[in-house]
Amino acid sequence: MDSEPKVITDIPEWDFSQQESSAEMLLAPVCMFRDPFLLDPNKLILCEVLKQTQEPADFNHRNSCNKVMEKVKDLHPWFGMEQEYTLLGVDGHPYGWPRLGYPKPQGLYHNSVGADRAFGRDIVECHYKACLYAGIKIGGTNAEVMPSQWEFQVGPCEGIEMGDHLWMARFLLHRVCEDFGVVATLDPKPMTGDWNGAGCHINVSTEQMREGGGIEYVLTYAHTHTIIKVRETKDIYKTECELCYSVIAMSSNLHRPPLIRHIEKAIEKLSKRHVEHIRVYDPHGGEDNKRRLTGHHETASISDFSAGVANRGASIRIPHRVGQDKCGYFEDRRPAANCDPYAVTCAMARTCMLEEGK
Ligand code: ADP
Ligand code: MN
Ligand code: MN
Ligand code: MN
Ligand code: MN
Repeated sequence: MDSEPKVITDIPEWDFSQQESSAEMLLAPVCMFRDPFLLDPNKLILCEVLKQTQEPADFNHRNSCNKVMEKVKDLHPWFGMEQEYTLLGVDGHPYGWPRLGYPKPQGLYHNSVGADRAFGRDIVECHYKACLYAGIKIGGTNAEVMPSQWEFQVGPCEGIEMGDHLWMARFLLHRVCEDFGVVATLDPKPMTGDWNGAGCHINVSTEQMREGGGIEYVLTYAHTHTIIKVRETKDIYKTECELCYSVIAMSSNLHRPPLIRHIEKAIEKLSKRHVEHIRVYDPHGGEDNKRRLTGHHETASISDFSAGVANRGASIRIPHRVGQDKCGYFEDRRPAANCDPYAVTCAMARTCMLEEGK
């Protein structure tokens, strides 16, 4: 291009042909990032792949996801995904593992530091910096339970942004690893035996789930001002001081706090569609996750649906803090590391956020 593109509409469509066929496919630009390798003013452009007929390519799950996200946009859905992955040498052997035999059993490695237990942090942090430069909403990284297994978190992202940012973060991961002469695999169970698999937990909330202020009991503070006003918002009665706006009392007109109810409602809907969700939580209809969701190694069994507060062995976990605050988000621990985030967020929005029958 002759000048630096400023917005995605400055980028023209392009076409390419797939190796295995001579049919030309269209690249429709959808999202622009700064290029952390060639540096400013160069860009990385995420594209949707379309057929010549303008229909989405068979593996393009963004197109239909975007349509669902449009329908639920008033709920302001936020997602955060925790991408786990494993570093391998180019020979497929886990990076940093002894040539013969195995490293010490799991227990040393999760969130660890030290050359004898955290293998590849220079690579991990290089990826982290590349994501920050690109403008990806990356939130953190950690060493995982299996040695050479790592995680990074992307989010919170609203709607379609989740898939866009995670896919670009994955591209940068593979690209950074290339420079280091290693390979990142998203296989959900790279090593059989007593080694943890790799997932891509998804954290989910709507505006209603995030809203603070809903509490079970009446809170009363001693207050020196005397002017008070009772305000009613949705299911909450709020008593505020008109002078200093401090909240003197809050109560719910129901026995249960209204905000966590939205989370519970979503979980109830998910419980009725366990099989459908498992089908889209990896690219092979649940086959890949069969190796990972065994009921061991911090997973729930693939054949059961379960939910709980602070329970990392459940399909759905409500974080401890969310249970205390009575508002926030929930986590679906079932998606495999190699899931398509468009397919996962789309299923989540369909099940939890769309009105029945739409
Ligand atoms: P875990 O305790 O399960 O390891 P992490 O700290 O690794 O959790 O990841 C938490 C994820 O939750 C992050 O991706 C973050 O962006 C996301 N998140 C935080 N708040 C919300 C929210 N209100 N709605 C959706 N996602 C959220
Ligand atoms: Mn050519
Ligand atoms: Mn995590
Ligand atoms: Mn993890
Ligand atoms: Mn998690």
